[in-house]
Amino acid sequence: MADKKFKLKLPVDNEAKKVLFAEAGKEIADFLIYLLSLPVGTVARLLEKKSMVGCLGNLYQSIKERRNVYKCAYSSNSNVAENPKIVCPSCNRQMTREVPYLTASSKSVGTSTAAVGEGGFVKGVVTYVIMDNLVLKPMSTISSIALLNKFNVKDVRSLEKKVVDFGVEEGVKLLKASLECRNILTSVFLSSIESQKISS
Ligand SMILES: [Zn+2]
Repeated sequence: MADKKFKLKLPVDNEAKKVLFAEAGKEIADFLIYLLSLPVGTVARLLEKKSMVGCLGNLYQSIKERRNVYKCAYSSNSNVAENPKIVCPSCNRQMTREVPYLTASSKSVGTSTAAVGEGGFVKGVVTYVIMDNLVLKPMSTISSIALLNKFNVKDVRSLEKKVVDFGVEEGVKLLKASLECRNILTSVFLSSIESQKISS
């Protein structure tokens, strides 16, 4: 994990000099969850700050909202597990079948993430949208036109889709920027995009 880099797609509004949002695969979503699961002591060392506040809380909340539970794919008992590695008490196989976990705010999220097949694999083809304030949502629940409307983009020609590397270094920058809770993606990625432009 330490030196692995993922690709992050960023629609950039060149006119407004703003990263609108980021499109990310399951790996990045998992990676963000991994960052959030780091012991507080580690995070504190990473950031040289005493507390995690602001947008990190938003991201954590979206992850909690999309959580699923798992059941056995072979037995018809009604046991559910929080973790797909837990073994079914009836047949001793891992409980890998994903079941959506609904809360009052869930609406119909989850039709594309959990409708068919074994857990994990299906989720792998889902694209997530990471908003500039680090709120994370499955792409299927938001149409791209609705997104663009939301950002009030006046001229679509000023939009450009950039692809940047995302690894531990960028993750730490993201954690750090999240303490300020404003335009996190823009502040982390726009300067590196600009400097790439100058050097190329
Ligand atoms: Zn079973």
